[in-house]
Amino acid sequence: MSKVRVLDKAFETSITKDEISNRIKELSKDINTAYADRNPLFLAILNGAFIFAADLYREITIPSEISFVKMASYEGTASTGVVNELIGLNQDISGRHIIIVEDIVDTGLTMKMMVDRLMAFHPASVSICALLQKPSKLQTDIKVDYVAFEIPDRFVIGYGLDYDQQGRNLKEIFSII
Ligand code: 5GP
Repeated sequence: MSKVRVLDKAFETSITKDEISNRIKELSKDINTAYADRNPLFLAILNGAFIFAADLYREITIPSEISFVKMASYEGTASTGVVNELIGLNQDISGRHIIIVEDIVDTGLTMKMMVDRLMAFHPASVSICALLQKPSKLQTDIKVDYVAFEIPDRFVIGYGLDYDQQGRNLKEIFSII
């Protein structure tokens, strides 16, 4: 088990490179079968999912497309509070089968907002594929259709996930000590 220091915090290996790549092969096999004739559109959520999406998508062998989007939050007026906007979706998704590719589902609030935003464009279906999920933290009725790893409630970094923008380039997933 290796240890790393990122800024002021120490982390130890939680999921190795081999475990990640083996699990991605299993997940993609399931997706290739389930979506064989549906030309799905993968929507990868920036920034955290970019490495997961790149590795997952290279295991997808069926006709499909991928695009990258971002949920941006900003302060609205006093009556609207924090506004969450979906940016980067510049194609028509009506009638399309969407697979959201996310780094980690924690409370599920981000995914709930994302699905709500997408439903307004009348896709044929929306499913969620997440690298990680912390089931004990879930606060919504969101269903994560494909989960690579369920993990305990400990802060993780690496393989695209950051701590204060650092650590995304780590090849394994590390959890805080
Ligand atoms: P949710 O809306 O499900 O509570 O939060 C999802 C977002 O919180 C993720 O996309 C990610 O940006 C962030 N997040 C939640 N848990 C962790 C964690 O353990 N590590 C990192 N790096 N980000 C996390």
